Amino acid sequence: MSNSGAPTGAGPGKLIVISGPSGAGKTSICKGLLAQLPDAAWSVSVTTRPPRSGEVSGESYMFVDREEFERRELAGEFLESAEYVGQRYGTPRLPIEEAMSRGRNIVAEIDVQGTIQVAARMPESIRIFVLPPNMESLRARLEGRSTEAGEQLARRLGQADGEIAVARDSGCYPYFVVNDVLETTIQEVRSIIAKEQQEP
Ligand code: 5GP
Repeated sequence: MSNSGAPTGAGPGKLIVISGPSGAGKTSICKGLLAQLPDAAWSVSVTTRPPRSGEVSGESYMFVDREEFERRELAGEFLESAEYVGQRYGTPRLPIEEAMSRGRNIVAEIDVQGTIQVAARMPESIRIFVLPPNMESLRARLEGRSTEAGEQLARRLGQADGEIAVARDSGCYPYFVVNDVLETTIQEVRSIIAKEQQEP
């Protein structure tokens, strides 16, 4: 997923954080946003999780080992970092600062723990939590995706309930959207971004 983007000239760029449980459809929403918003760039996260089939390092994620992750973390390269079902994830700070300084929006997929850090460090970011229409649809999407098997699938499903509760309690999401019909959800997220863009 990549989008070189172009300056909007419509005020400062913003960091748009998309969160939600595994299987809620975050990645499809991000892809849709990037396709529809020519000014938006994609934040390539760094992770220790192994690539899924078809994932290329430097596109959806930068895949590194734990030692390299910790080196980058110690060097202060991440805006935020977190551990999710036994793997490390971090958002590189520099590409976000660069995009924003050029007046471009940048879209990032970040879990709740990481978003709490972003809310504290970058309160002007737009933070949106994506909910599945119900837990059955979450299970069906995760199973249908068949990228995770057995224990990983169970861990991700087990994580979902807690994640939604923590997201609500954290107070760091001004926006919750239910992803029932993908195109409708993308339009809803676009309206949120447009509204926030009006704010100083
Ligand atoms: P997945 O392994 O399914 O791609 O992602 C697992 C979880 O990690 C998802 O909730 C995703 O939003 C989150 N995630 C992806 N990139 C980052 C990141 O850079 N930082 C944090 N904190 N979470 C991330």
